Amino acid sequence: MTMDWTIPSTLSDVGRAQPGLGDKIALSDGAQTLSYADLDQQIDAAHGVYAALGLTPGDRVVLLLPASTSFVAAYFGAHRAGLILIPLNPLLGPDEIGFILSTMRPALVLAAATDAPFPVMAALDDLVAALDPTPRLIRIADFVASMADAAIDRAAIVRHPDDEALILFTSGTSGRPKGASHREGALITNGRHSNGVLGIGPNDVLLCPLPLSHVFGQIVLMLGGLMAGGEVVIVARPSPDAVLAAMTERQVTIMAAVPTIFAALAEKGRSDPDAGHAAARRLRFAFAGGAPLPPATGEAFRASFGVPVHQGYGMTEVACCIALESHALPPSGGVGRLCTTLDHRIVPISADTPDEGELEIAGPNLMRGYYVDGYLQPRPATQWFSTGDIVRRDGDGNIFLFDRKKEMIIRNGYNVYPSEVEAALASHPAVLLAAVIGVEDAAVGQEVAAFVSLREGASATPMELANWCRARIALYKYPRLVAIMERLPTNATGKILKRALDPALLQPVDSL
Ligand code: AMP
Repeated sequence: MTMDWTIPSTLSDVGRAQPGLGDKIALSDGAQTLSYADLDQQIDAAHGVYAALGLTPGDRVVLLLPASTSFVAAYFGAHRAGLILIPLNPLLGPDEIGFILSTMRPALVLAAATDAPFPVMAALDDLVAALDPTPRLIRIADFVASMADAAIDRAAIVRHPDDEALILFTSGTSGRPKGASHREGALITNGRHSNGVLGIGPNDVLLCPLPLSHVFGQIVLMLGGLMAGGEVVIVARPSPDAVLAAMTERQVTIMAAVPTIFAALAEKGRSDPDAGHAAARRLRFAFAGGAPLPPATGEAFRASFGVPVHQGYGMTEVACCIALESHALPPSGGVGRLCTTLDHRIVPISADTPDEGELEIAGPNLMRGYYVDGYLQPRPATQWFSTGDIVRRDGDGNIFLFDRKKEMIIRNGYNVYPSEVEAALASHPAVLLAAVIGVEDAAVGQEVAAFVSLREGASATPMELANWCRARIALYKYPRLVAIMERLPTNATGKILKRALDPALLQPVDSL
């Protein structure tokens, strides 16, 4: 298909019904589909509602919404109105949301319904009323109803590429959540770059089984997909059945997700190969990111869906990618090459291995700085930012990610990367998901501890799993403590939530 349209160069232009694009489907969510013309009209209407509410450029809007077509209209409508967006995951707890609202002082909070299944929703009216200054609180159904008769305001708000457009909060695993502030121009550059490396174009149908409040879904899939003139398929509750149904119905060409979703899909595809094949009919690219992908999980997905899983590596502070595997090359087992949009250096852990160490990045396309307790701590573009991730670069420039520095286990003075132990566990035929952490131990400093969930109908004992690892990885690395669990806890993006793992459940294994 040849298309006569222009790749948007500003956030206000994303989702526009340009010539050639107007009738094309931009978004789908279950049975609902929106063409680019529909979406453009909805974004303008959302802009109109913001203006009617008296919001002016530079005001902050908090979105507390699950993924939906209304989210997309509210998001780009805010960009067209020159507002600064703070999308928050509605699954965050009331304390965390209360802290962010009180320090960031938004003009408007646009939230899901009072009875929506999120812990904060019922308490939100009281929480917002107690704030000083008190923001407006509007529920999404009322916002959408006002869009029907909003005066469509096509007046272009002129925004400079250096202007702040978006504040994304980190998950706050250590201390208070921090808000990464992003420039308009950086978001556009990053979206264009990931589209180029991943080869995303107007014929693509991108599956988005991720929350739109997180960079992966928001920047790579929603922003990138719409910049490319593709179709973005929203699956707000990504059970394997819902994902397969959406893939089949919309004939998805690019499937992107976190590793836990790939593991669940591989399992589903194995038990129902016909459904897997029907879903993968047009699939040309699968792409994992957000957390380590055990090679066995990638292989299991390929066996069921016929497409290998490529990887990418990103973070909230970069919105989004730091390294990406090209769509044109076979997967390397790593996360691909470093993005040319950033400067990089590797700070070696030891002089003997100069290509292995903590990755630092710099440049204008990563965040402008963090908001800490409501105040921006500006970050000069030339200043190195430590990712906290330990990487290795091979001779071809491919990056292999070990783990976060602070998750590295030091057992008896030896370094153990949890991802290596997780990969060994995931290669056991009974294992669905594995998460490895270090737990304090008087004798060895930190002991290697594994939490594992099993495939349906499969069985394995802690000792079997420890012995399986012992036969595959170094003696100091195999887990001496194992817990077999029904399910592993995950965060809203689907990443395994290691801090919620309870060491009291671990059993010592005596595998000798
Ligand atoms: P967040 O900002 O919440 O998305 O978390 C970013 C962190 O997720 C990175 O610093 C990495 O530690 C981890 N991460 C992201 N992508 C990958 C990947 N492909 N493999 C392993 N870890 C990843």
